[in-house]
Amino acid sequence: MRATDDRYRGEQARFDLAIRMIGHEARTGTIRFFTGLNDDRIRKLYARYFKYNDAPVRRQRGRSPTRVSPLVRTPQRALESGVFVNLLLANGLLSLEAPPGPPLKLNVDLGHRLCECFDTFVLLVPRASLSFEWSFNLLASMRRGDELGIAHCEVCSICYVFDMLSLPRAACPACLLFEGRVDVELALTAS
Ligand SMILES: [Zn+2]
Repeated sequence: MRATDDRYRGEQARFDLAIRMIGHEARTGTIRFFTGLNDDRIRKLYARYFKYNDAPVRRQRGRSPTRVSPLVRTPQRALESGVFVNLLLANGLLSLEAPPGPPLKLNVDLGHRLCECFDTFVLLVPRASLSFEWSFNLLASMRRGDELGIAHCEVCSICYVFDMLSLPRAACPACLLFEGRVDVELALTAS
């Protein structure tokens, strides 16, 4: 009986995570990666819980973004990415001491934690440009560790994400903004 209960709870946790991720407009591949549910079940969950809602949720098709340059294209984006990476580190989805961190595939608990990071991020950064899918791309890229790095500015103590392949390394985006060396409006609309 207990085995049946545990299986039911495990199944329910996967459904709960899938529904939560659909609410964040995650792509089917991302939901499948964390929950192991097949495309047909994900499609049915979307149809059942979201399709005819008052506030429509878009179903994202196709592949998840894999390019990293948009994550650091402007100072604002480098700062946004820095905030999100700090949340990932604090929530154990990413580890600097034991890189890259715990395995994510079919890990329902960490899938929920990623959703929590995103929920917190949306509260911390109003009108952020980082979507849920881009935040997952950021997580995956940071775990690969070959293109994006996290830097800490000695002057203003802010953490930001930088492109490791771009030389010389980009200056601290917060200091640039504080010094007025970047037109904020221009940087915002360049996204
Ligand atoms: Zn700085």
